[in-house]
Amino acid sequence: MSLQKCDSCNTNFKWKVIYLSLIKGYKPIQCSKCSTEHKITFTSRLIVVGLTILPMLIFAYFLSPFNDFTTIMISIIMAIIGSLFTPFLVKYE
Ligand SMILES: [Zn+2]
Repeated sequence: MSLQKCDSCNTNFKWKVIYLSLIKGYKPIQCSKCSTEHKITFTSRLIVVGLTILPMLIFAYFLSPFNDFTTIMISIIMAIIGSLFTPFLVKYE
């Protein structure tokens, strides 16, 4: 797994920068070196949803053998863990 590079100058984006962009509602990333702005692709938005909200809902509605409180806590933890991987999978252009 590797993080995306800037199209213009090949500088690697930092995990934290991508993660913050996702948290802030897919905010465009500005390259720290050449200032080129990169916007997230539509497919990447689907990947983010697929790794965070989707597993959380599937678990909560269909798979959980636990009571409501435990289910919600586990769902949130699953979403957080899933989100940690999203910076490696999303694409900006
Ligand atoms: Zn750059």
